[in-house]
Amino acid sequence: MRPSQVSVSLAHAMWRGFRMRCPHCGQGTLFGRFLKVADHCPKCDEELFHHCADDFPAYLVIAALGHVIVPAILVVETAYAPALWLQLLIWLSVTTLSALALLQPTKGAIVGLQWQLGMHGFDTSKRRRLVPGQSRFHRTISRRAKRREGELDD
Ligand SMILES: [Zn+2]
Repeated sequence: MRPSQVSVSLAHAMWRGFRMRCPHCGQGTLFGRFLKVADHCPKCDEELFHHCADDFPAYLVIAALGHVIVPAILVVETAYAPALWLQLLIWLSVTTLSALALLQPTKGAIVGLQWQLGMHGFDTSKRRRLVPGQSRFHRTISRRAKRREGELDD
């Protein structure tokens, strides 16, 4: 199956990415191995190597876990005051496992976001998915492409 002119909403593309599926078709696996995005979707052949998530998924995971785990630590300390070694054992384990479990789905959601918005190298895919002339984004990237090709002077 070749990439087609399928329109996918931003929320749907991010949800597919969070489920570690191709944001375009929702069928193929997004990752080849842990945190390594596949170059192409094995089902629809959509190009996925254009992503540029960098450290953003890690920042999001740190922020989200920090807002959950720190209050939980304070509540447990206030209510039960367990021994320090027990708290270290529990909270380090919970934090590490939660971060590892959330990191890849979060990266998938960011790749879905970048794919849907046509960021980085996904603009070609975004252009293919849009009906010509219907959106401001399409007009902008069309003008940029023509400018690159020397068809426009300004
Ligand atoms: Zn796909």
